[in-house]
Amino acid sequence: MATGELTDAERGYLETLYWLHEAALPMTAANVARAMQLSAPAVHEMIGRLEREGHIIRSPEKLISFTDPGERQAEEIVGRHRLIERFLTDVLGIPWDEVHEEAERLEHAMSPVLEERMLAAIGDATTCPHGHPIRKGTRIPGVPLADVREGAKIRVLRFENEAEDLLHYLRQTGLEPGLEGTVTQSGAEEIVVTAADRTATITRSVAETVSVTADPSPPPRVALPEQLVLGVQRYGR
Ligand SMILES: [Zn+2]
Repeated sequence: MATGELTDAERGYLETLYWLHEAALPMTAANVARAMQLSAPAVHEMIGRLEREGHIIRSPEKLISFTDPGERQAEEIVGRHRLIERFLTDVLGIPWDEVHEEAERLEHAMSPVLEERMLAAIGDATTCPHGHPIRKGTRIPGVPLADVREGAKIRVLRFENEAEDLLHYLRQTGLEPGLEGTVTQSGAEEIVVTAADRTATITRSVAETVSVTADPSPPPRVALPEQLVLGVQRYGR
C-alpha cells in the first residue's frame, strides 16, 4: 500500500513518471534521469524508495509501472498542477508561459475546498493552458508538427515539453494551443504555420515537441526520448 505523505521530491518523481506514461515513453530510471536532469545514482535511490513505499513496481527488465494507488496519486498531482495553471491564466490573467513555477509553488498549499472552487472558476476548460488534460481519459492523440507536410491544415493540441524557456520561445512565435492554420513551409530548419491573424515560424527541433491534429495527417509516432530535454534546465509536464 502507498502510505504516508509524499515529500516534494517524491511528487516531482511521480509527476515525471506520469508524464512519460502519457507520452508513451518507456518508464525507466534512465528516462527519468534524462527528463529531470538528475544523476543516475540519485534517481536510482528515489525510485527504490517509491517502490518500497508502494507507489511503483519494477519488472525484472527494470521497466517501471505504477501501482493502482501510485497511479491515482500521480494523476491527482498532475491534474491539480494543470488546474492551477489554467486558473492562473484564465482567472488571474497571467501569461501562459509564466504560470508553471507559480503553479508548482501553489500546488502544495491546496486544500480540497480550494480545488473545488478553482474547478468551478475555470468553467468549461478541460486542459492546462499548454493543452494537457486536467482529468485523465481526455487526451486527444496528436502527431508532431515536425511530421506534417506542407499544405496540411493543422490545429495545435499541446506542447509536450513545458520547460519554461521553451514556453517563452513558443509564446514569442505566436503558436498556441487551439490555434488553427496551414503549414505553409516545412523546411530542414524551420516550420511556418499561417493562421488567419498571424504567421508563426518555429524551429524544426521545437516542432518535434508540438502535438497537432492535421489534415492530411502523417502516421502517428511516439516522441523521441531526446525530446525530453531540449537544452533546458527543467522538464515539462
Ligand atoms: Zn501546463
